[in-house]
Amino acid sequence: MMNLILFGPPGSGKGTQAKRIGQEFGVTHLSTGEMLRRAVAEGSALGLAAREQMNAGRLVPDGVMIGLVRERLRRGVGRGFILDGFPRTIEQARGLERMLGEMGQHVDRVLSIVVPRDEILRRLLERARIEGRSDDCADVIAERLAVYERETAQVAEWYRERSLLTEVDGGRTIEDVWSDIRGLIEESRRPA
Ligand code: AMP
Repeated sequence: MMNLILFGPPGSGKGTQAKRIGQEFGVTHLSTGEMLRRAVAEGSALGLAAREQMNAGRLVPDGVMIGLVRERLRRGVGRGFILDGFPRTIEQARGLERMLGEMGQHVDRVLSIVVPRDEILRRLLERARIEGRSDDCADVIAERLAVYERETAQVAEWYRERSLLTEVDGGRTIEDVWSDIRGLIEESRRPA
């Protein structure tokens, strides 16, 4: 069993790296952003509730997110998970700790991809041009970055205080970042 969390601002390559972690280490990739985008596409009650905040680049309420993740974890994740996009607030981190505790589990390691702000802006505007994701226009990008800096950076600190956080230099190629991430996970997997 190995439970991992990956942090990184929008445009840090977090989604790509999380997918690879899932494939390489046989843990379930859980992206709350993807779960929400699917709910929006399906037009479910969750999607209707989340759509407005997503389009504005704001966070969906903690209670909704904690419920969503709780329900997903209850269905089982096999050999563990890599969480991508959750927790994004201290409240969500506490919620995760509570639900894992109820299941007799814990978070093993938290990796944070760190990228300078101007590099992030450059990448996001490029992605907006190529993919046309509705939350990738300039205003919304600025809001998502501000939200990340305001809320989610604190969550990384919360895990640092618990000695679970390791930072990875994300200002490099996908392959270089991956090679660091893989090494760190292999290291933490080895029995002490
Ligand atoms: P992402 O693909 O992780 O960048 O998420 C896309 C959008 O979904 C975010 O900008 C938020 O509006 C929403 N979202 C995803 N995960 C969370 C979360 N843990 N808490 C609140 N909102 C979230």
